[in-house]
Amino acid sequence: MDSKLSLYNTLTRRKEEFEPLVEGRVGMYVCGPTVYGDPHLGHARPSVTFDLLFRYLKASGYKVRYVRNITDVGHLEHDADEGEDKIAKKARLEQLEPMEVAHYYTERYHKAMEALNVETPSIEPHASGHIIEQIEMVKRIYDAGFAYISNGSVYFDVEKYNAKYHYGKLSGRNLEDIVVNTRELDGQSDKRHSFDFALWKKASPEHIMRWPSPWSDGFPGWHMECSAMSTRYLGERFDIHGGGMDLMFPHHECEIAQSTAALGHDSARYWVHNNMVTINGQKMGKSLGNFITLEELFTGSHKLLEQAYTPMTIRFFVLQAHYRSTLDFSNEALQAAEKGLDRLMKGVDALAKVKPSATSTVKPEELEKRCRTAMDDDLNSPMVISALFDWVRIINQLVEGQQTITAEDLELLKGIVNRYVFDILGLRDEKAAGAASGRDYVTPLVEMLLEERLKARAAKDWAASDRIRDGLAAAGIRVKDRKDGSDWEIE
Ligand code: ZN
Repeated sequence: MDSKLSLYNTLTRRKEEFEPLVEGRVGMYVCGPTVYGDPHLGHARPSVTFDLLFRYLKASGYKVRYVRNITDVGHLEHDADEGEDKIAKKARLEQLEPMEVAHYYTERYHKAMEALNVETPSIEPHASGHIIEQIEMVKRIYDAGFAYISNGSVYFDVEKYNAKYHYGKLSGRNLEDIVVNTRELDGQSDKRHSFDFALWKKASPEHIMRWPSPWSDGFPGWHMECSAMSTRYLGERFDIHGGGMDLMFPHHECEIAQSTAALGHDSARYWVHNNMVTINGQKMGKSLGNFITLEELFTGSHKLLEQAYTPMTIRFFVLQAHYRSTLDFSNEALQAAEKGLDRLMKGVDALAKVKPSATSTVKPEELEKRCRTAMDDDLNSPMVISALFDWVRIINQLVEGQQTITAEDLELLKGIVNRYVFDILGLRDEKAAGAASGRDYVTPLVEMLLEERLKARAAKDWAASDRIRDGLAAAGIRVKDRKDGSDWEIE
């Protein structure tokens, strides 16, 4: 591996050089969506962030097993151990079987991910398909002495765990702070302490999602699935665990406690968290009226949106910020991203118009070096984009003949640009993709007219030349003359 990737590890609170457990291979687990509603802006950020990491690891030569789960059971309304299951509630309200709800929104999520050009993970396990693994892990935690049974439910004994290990090490908390910040139990709970959490919950009579277990007919606690499924597919120790910052506490903290209690040690070496999304400076929330789904963004059908934004505009916008900074959505910012993406894609297109010379006045390997250094520095995608923009300017100078490049260097440059723009940043040329899906009638016709115009100019028939140019302009096609021909673009 010639890459020297450094990642910010939430666990140690510093950037660390990435060293996989097994040379050349990476195991990565990322918490996926709870499938009870349409995918929204909050889903776009982690999926694009970890897609970038997945793509970069692969481009750096690693074999990556990327596991991203689907939560289709056990995520209760109040995140902790109380309230109705989110999927069961939706099913009750819409008179559907819970798995119909989960299936429907999983499909919607996949469609949105495809639109954002997010690659499918290596494995996408569902929580409901891994009840046996979860029960087995609860047994191990219980046998190790870190859980207690209460009225058919099993709870994690945080105090006992904390006496041996440190509960709160990921989020930088101590149990004393957690005690101060959690409300007292109201006497109704089966838990000994408010900070304990459910590993297995006994189902109430009206609870429809239930499975048999040694303790009761019930369902696993929300945090359980990720410990069980990461162990199942990546082993007791693996390289990277990712997710949104909002999951750090309690979800990831509980995952660490569960895995440590069951296995005697931590599972993941690097914990990577993306920062949150805000809208016009505000947190996104249903009650705030600024909850925007991805479909609403793609179609422009939300009162806060001045226009529709293409999936690649959203992806580019996410990539323009470093994943550990907050990202604020606004129409102005998205419109700026749309222009930036257009400029980048035009630069990529312009590469095809560059004619090689005998000598080079430019060094493509400098672009490669800048992009790689930026990516190795904790996935600094904004720096990659800024390097690419500098080269869009250079490409335009090459087209205009202000700089020169040899055939060999031109091939090198094309390779670097394609690798970073398409393979690593994962951008897609939406205009070209649109043209490919229907037949492109425009390009051959315009090229033909421009050829005629070139002949007219060679014959000094300026009237004919102008007539063709003006005719194209009337059709919305702008012609730009160069020394050795002409370019055109659709306005
Ligand atoms: Zn998780």
